[in-house]
Amino acid sequence: MSESDTMRAVEVPEAGADFDVVEKPVPEPDADEVRISVEACGVCHSDEMTKEGVYPRIEFPRVPGHEVVGRIDAVGEDVEEWEAGERVGVGWHGGHCFTCDACRRGDFINCEHAEVTGLDFDGGYAEYTVAPHEALAAVPDELDAADAAPLLCAGITTFNALRNSDARPGDLVAVQGVGGLGHLGIQYAHAAGFEVVALSRGTEKKERALALGADHYVDTEATAAAEELQELGGASVVLATAPSAPAIESVVGGLGADGEVIAVGIPGEPVGVHAGALVGVRGSVSGWASGTARDSQDTLEFSALRDVTPEIETFDLGDAQDAYEKMLASEVRFRAVLEP
Ligand SMILES: [Zn+2]
Ligand SMILES: [Zn+2]
Repeated sequence: MSESDTMRAVEVPEAGADFDVVEKPVPEPDADEVRISVEACGVCHSDEMTKEGVYPRIEFPRVPGHEVVGRIDAVGEDVEEWEAGERVGVGWHGGHCFTCDACRRGDFINCEHAEVTGLDFDGGYAEYTVAPHEALAAVPDELDAADAAPLLCAGITTFNALRNSDARPGDLVAVQGVGGLGHLGIQYAHAAGFEVVALSRGTEKKERALALGADHYVDTEATAAAEELQELGGASVVLATAPSAPAIESVVGGLGADGEVIAVGIPGEPVGVHAGALVGVRGSVSGWASGTARDSQDTLEFSALRDVTPEIETFDLGDAQDAYEKMLASEVRFRAVLEP
């Protein structure tokens, strides 16, 4: 047990309610779980699912947070691969059953009983949290906790989407949106050896995008993104990070042969695409969701190797409401991180 029996945590008391800063008992890990002393937890747009209760299995009160970084401070009796004192992170994928059909095929992300951190169980907006052993990623020493936190969601989502695409070094890869996901996507695409195009509205983010590793910048207010991509030879991949259907629709015409638009930001409305624009180039529009704990660890290790870091603003745990509202209003450059 920790020094005191209680901890500070931020709870959503009921669907749609504001966050409550509470004192509650420090959780005990089950036999297959570890307890983590939380050093940092990112504030993600998907925390809205906890806050608004738009998740079928959610029970309240619930502590949000699926970008958790800290140190193991207690280990359940059945856990063999982790020890107290180790630095770990927990992302969106909060564990799987090992026995369903998807798990038997090693496809843990599609587990029928997959759990989501901060939705199915309490997440990282707290001084301590517990997580299943299979949901843990080791955090390299080179990474600060606050820098590592957003890599467990925004980072893994963009890194894993790109590395599982068919794009090869030298191919044209566009990153649409220079925000929480996009500013990491540009860095990963650059580090992976692609020719990188940043797509964003206006010129405000141009210098930032080029400094992050973009080779080209397209102001999508001034020019048509699809035409610009065709000028450059056609994109192998467009990583669509902006949660906007019109934005996704506007880049389909920019795909080269076998090109793919990969949506990682989720628009509230359906995306309409002319099949003709896909048939002509054998193109596709697809989606990608984060990854498993080992994918998280790969993301962290690659980020340490190639110096990929998020731009963050840190907040005290007690200021979670403020951090969340700024995140929703896109007033944070580019990811908000709570430090308990
Ligand atoms: Zn997230
Ligand atoms: Zn399963």
